[in-house]
This record gives sequence, structure tokens and C-alpha cells, in this order.
Amino acid sequence: MKIETLAIHAGNHGDPTTGAVVPPLILSTTFERAADGSIVEGRDIYTRASNPNRRALEEKLAALEGGSEAIAFASGQAATMSIFHSLGGNSHVILPDDIYYNTKVIIDNLYANFGLTCTAVDMTDLGAIKRAIKKNTKLIWVETPSNPSLKIADIQAVVKIAKAKNILVACDNTWATPFFTRPFELGVDLVMHSTTKYFGGHSDILGGCVITPPQPSPMEREFEVLPIGATVDTEDLRGVLSTAIRTFQTVGGAVPSPFDCWLLSRSLSTYAVRMPVHAQNAMKLATFLEAQTQIEKVNYPGLKSNEYHKVAKKQMRNGFGGMMSILVKGGQKEAMELASKLKIFKHATSLGGVESLIEHRYSVEGIHSTSPENLLRISVGIENIDDLIADFEQAFR
Ligand code: PLP
Repeated sequence: MKIETLAIHAGNHGDPTTGAVVPPLILSTTFERAADGSIVEGRDIYTRASNPNRRALEEKLAALEGGSEAIAFASGQAATMSIFHSLGGNSHVILPDDIYYNTKVIIDNLYANFGLTCTAVDMTDLGAIKRAIKKNTKLIWVETPSNPSLKIADIQAVVKIAKAKNILVACDNTWATPFFTRPFELGVDLVMHSTTKYFGGHSDILGGCVITPPQPSPMEREFEVLPIGATVDTEDLRGVLSTAIRTFQTVGGAVPSPFDCWLLSRSLSTYAVRMPVHAQNAMKLATFLEAQTQIEKVNYPGLKSNEYHKVAKKQMRNGFGGMMSILVKGGQKEAMELASKLKIFKHATSLGGVESLIEHRYSVEGIHSTSPENLLRISVGIENIDDLIADFEQAFR
């Protein structure tokens, strides 16, 4: 089935009891057992462990990404944590140097006492990745396009380096989503999403997920919890990872509520209709902005002039996504002024919603920010593109 059909039908089993086409929202946290206390087959036990709405959502997410299993979380950050946690202590991770800054904060702050360390490299520099590999490197984290410079890492090339050293590759596919990039087809071991963004699509549901690759590893084990500080070698890790991540969800409890799952499943029904509009609008806006004298540079991989266009063309499909960033001539003051003059674009954080957003990343990321001070990140919505361009025209006047 194609992605448009999967977005509507995967995981949607309606309600066989009432015949409802839309699945019911099951808010109950607990489920009745048989008279003798045994678990009724096919029935849930307790909502932290499993719930009908979460199961339906996970089925849809796995189908959209082309993976075997999706594990849903209360936020993208919780999903990321589940991966880092499952690596075990004394692990080393290689990250992109312009990664979503809070991903690195998880390692630097939350796992500082856990023996988890990381090295940030330019993921488009294959030599730098090779040089960063250590004896205890367990994972290479790819985020493409990157945030906020829209660098495009060559996923296949990164996977080749990782496989040679028996290192896992995880891809944060939040920005591209499977509509534009299919990381499992390029060989990655795990896909992570902040479903708060394009999957949710309306800036009203926080969520995240981890998706495991299409073929479950034959080494996959039964229920296993990795104790804090445990060291697990990489070959073993490949086998236990999905179980460990599921355990992090069901025991750790950073789960989305049934209502969030229901709402996200509903939003996903229109996901494949929204995505091409985001990309078409972004391409037209990027082309317009590139020609403006007030703009120093437009970072958008769809532009022929973009340094990552060749890799993006090879790796992305159906367009180049809805995200871009611009460097405004001048500095922070000029960038802020431009953002404040826009009327349709809301000056707010986050991305992937139907409405267009603009944000000055340097001031948001704080003193450790590596973003240029004249950079504005733009999440292009699905409004009429003529109105979006007209909004910039009036701001430039
Ligand atoms: N990954 C990327 C690429 C993001 O942009 C974000 C949030 O902006 C996250 C992860 C974290 O997701 P959440 O805010 O849902 O925790």
C-alpha cells in the first residue's frame, strides 16, 4: 500500500462492537480480568503497559516508516532518551554538530553520571566521522536535514562506515519524515521522531516514537531490562535494543495518553496530503527569498545553488521538505526586525504545523548556540504561497 492509504487505514480497525468507522477513545487505565484472575486473551491489563489507542497509533507509525515495530512516547525527547538509555553505560555516541540542541543536552546533562559520552562532528564530513570512532562507540546519530543549517548527511555513506565497525545508526527523521526520506531503505538500525512536528501537524500534540527496522533481529530476546551502568557489547545490543526500548516505555512510563494517541492517529490521516504542500510552498518561498537583496543566504536543500542539493536529490523523494533557514544581511538586530515585521508567520518555536512559523535560533538556544546570529529558521506552513510571499514583501518594504 502507498503512504497516502497507509496514513488513513493502517492501525484503524474501527470498532467491531458498534461498527464505528473511527476507533473509540479508551480512557480506562485498567482492564478487567477473567473470573479466575487470568488475563483475557487479546485484552490489555494496564494502560502504561499497553492501551488500544496506543497500539493502533504504533501500528500506523510503523507502517508509515516501513519498520516492524513503533514504540510511542510522551515526547520526542523521551523517545531519544529511550535509545541512549538502552545503549547502557560506558557508551560513546557520535552526533551531528548542528543537531537539535536538546538531543545533545540529554547526553551532556542527564547522562553525565551514566558514563555516556558523545562527540559532535560535521555529519557531512565522512573523514570526521571515522576519526571520531572510539572503542566504545555504540551509535552514530544522524539528523537530516539538520537543525537549523539544513545540512544533508549522506545516510548510506554513514551506514557504510558504521557497519564496518559494528556500530548502530539511528536517524532522527522528524524533519524529513518518511514522505521525503526513508532511512530504513538506506540501512539505518533505528528511526526516531518527534511526532509533535509533521506527524501531529497542528501544533497541538506533544509526542515521540522510536521505530525498529523491517526485519526483526533473529537475536531478539524476551523481556530484558538493562540495569543502569550496564555494559553491553554492540553485537548483543543490536538484538536487545528494541526490547530494551519497549521496556523503557512500559516500565519507565514516559507514555502518551490514550487521547494523545487517538488525536495523533487522527492527524496522521491527513499527513500525506499536508506534506507535498509544505514542500511546494517551501520551494517557492526559498526561490523568492534567494533573490532578495536583504538576504545573504537561504539554506534549503531543494535549491540548485545549495551545497547539499546533490546528496538531497539522491536521498530525498517527493520534494525537499518544509523547513529552511535564512541568513539576513546584518546581524541579530536585522534578523529580529525582519521576523517582527511578518504578520502571517508567527514568531514561535517548533515546526511542522499547518501554520508558518519563524524563529531566531541563536537567542533561543542560549550561549552554547552554534547558530549564526543572523539566522532565522522557517517552518513553512500550508497557507496559500502567494500570501506567504506577500507577507515577506511587506516586511522587506
Ligand atoms: N528532534 C528534532 C529534530 C526536533 O526538532 C525536536 C523538537 O523540536 C525534538 C527532536 C524533540 O522533540 P519534542 O519537543 O517532541 O520532545
